[in-house]
Amino acid sequence: MLRKFFIVFSFVCILISCTTAPITGRSQLILLSEYQELRLGATAYSQAIKEGKKSTNKVYIDAVERVGLRIAPVTGKNYQWEFTVLDSDLINAWCLPGGKIAFYEGILDIMENEAQIAAVMGHEIAHATARHGGERISLGILAQIGSVALQIAMRDKDPAVQYAVFQAYIPTLLVGVILPFSRAHEHEADEIGLIYMARAGYNPEEAVKFWEIMYEKNKDKKRPPAWLSTHPPTQKRIDEIKKLLPEVMEIYKSAEKASIKTLH
Ligand SMILES: [Zn+2]
Repeated sequence: MLRKFFIVFSFVCILISCTTAPITGRSQLILLSEYQELRLGATAYSQAIKEGKKSTNKVYIDAVERVGLRIAPVTGKNYQWEFTVLDSDLINAWCLPGGKIAFYEGILDIMENEAQIAAVMGHEIAHATARHGGERISLGILAQIGSVALQIAMRDKDPAVQYAVFQAYIPTLLVGVILPFSRAHEHEADEIGLIYMARAGYNPEEAVKFWEIMYEKNKDKKRPPAWLSTHPPTQKRIDEIKKLLPEVMEIYKSAEKASIKTLH
């Protein structure tokens, strides 16, 4: 039974493993179709908008929309783009599959100008265009399949051995697969995001300035907010972005420049 299961599983993997991320060309294993992912994104977006409170700050709303409408066309994705600002102190922003983007007022409060919005917008949009959500869901499915396969393989073993194996499986999965995977996604979103902002005519050096603001803010925080913990503003991150600057500055130089409005 186990053999049959693996044959079917390998066949499914071969069928769907031919996706590649935009720009970086990294091969991806995604178990759900882009259409399914877009449907998930649209549902989650309408729920989040219903539960959240929309901002009334006209400066923020206009700025986010202006930046979004400049970045969307350079991604080459034909999404039904939507941009919104939510009334909350959270230092957060997100983009759901299919180009549904939200910024919280809290993150706009610490930004200086629209180019810094472009830095975060580019990064978040990159998570969506590179289908990181779909990859993460697929990883969850694979982890579950792995755990079922493990259960089947271990069914005749002593319960103590079974327990020990499962105790080892979860941290191994977390430290060996899920965490490096998240870091790889973050790095990829930084790289693609810088290219998007440069193509849209926003100076990529503003991304470094934004992460430096975040770094300063994070220094005296004991427990970082959600976005900070998934997007740690470490010196390493800033250094990696700086390394990408020469390449993306070339793109920026030949792009039609956006007008940079200040936010406060
Ligand atoms: Zn990210």
